[in-house]
Amino acid sequence: MTLASAAPVPVPGRPARLLLVHAHPDDETLATGVTIAHHVAAGDEVHVLTCTLGEEGEVIPDELAHLAADREDRLDAHRREELRGAMASIGARSHVLRDGSPERWRDSGMAGSPSAAHPRAWAGAPLEEAAAAVREVIAQVDPDLVITYDQHGGYAHPDHIRTHEATCAALAAMPAAARPALFGIYTPRSWADQDRDWLAAHPVPGWTQPEGPYPPSVVDDAVVTHAVVDPDAVAAQAAALEHHRTQVTVAGETYALSNDVAARLPGREGFARLDPGTGRPLAGDQPAEVGDRPAETGDRLGDPGQERQPLVQRTATAGSPESSG
Ligand SMILES: [Zn+2]
Repeated sequence: MTLASAAPVPVPGRPARLLLVHAHPDDETLATGVTIAHHVAAGDEVHVLTCTLGEEGEVIPDELAHLAADREDRLDAHRREELRGAMASIGARSHVLRDGSPERWRDSGMAGSPSAAHPRAWAGAPLEEAAAAVREVIAQVDPDLVITYDQHGGYAHPDHIRTHEATCAALAAMPAAARPALFGIYTPRSWADQDRDWLAAHPVPGWTQPEGPYPPSVVDDAVVTHAVVDPDAVAAQAAALEHHRTQVTVAGETYALSNDVAARLPGREGFARLDPGTGRPLAGDQPAEVGDRPAETGDRLGDPGQERQPLVQRTATAGSPESSG
């Protein structure tokens, strides 16, 4: 038995158009690189909207450290080029919110840092204004579906939360009939467990193992109704990540940020339909708030080995009934 919110988005006889809304350059490839590469390979049109240029990011290569916010503060232009290179490599079209404008929003840095008080900090952007800017890009792209973070911004970064809020508000303001489907990015807890086991079995010298509770985007398996599972897409994802060299180091199917904590490129990404009005999964499906509880069984979609649906399903003709609620 499949809930209506768990159905794929019907796309009538043409390539699908996907719009992924992210906070900083590199987020798109780290969080959704498999989905981007998979849909590009399927002939779909994939757009990535990046809300800030990641000015507050920590810089990994010593020779580029002078670009950082606490030195020359010139990381924006550099990361714009990294993003351009990554998107060209993976085959997606790159949009940056208010690209090239002095009104462009800026990376807010981690919660509580002084950069969050900057007048152009994205986390502090007035919601109406932020949503209107996102809506302009949605109108231009006319996507079948939009993907962004869950209500916790994946791992509670203020810019990621603002990205989720602005995207939801942009869609909520559209007439329902014209509104593309909205998906949040989630990881089933069983996948997160498997990834930690895999990392322990495949250590990279100099990198530490992840530990502690999972981020809030790790939820009960049953919440995650859709998935893109495509191990063949990892090569394209890793190649795109190589462009983000101020932020990411790649070693085979493992990568690390400036903290040198190993993370896996597992070739799979999970999603659930969101209600743009609430930012929560549709049909009252509430993810667990904290991701460190044992997996639940007997949930609303049956056992944890449930079939997950693809994001889109191509239908023969236009005008087939909207079955995804
Ligand atoms: Zn980010």
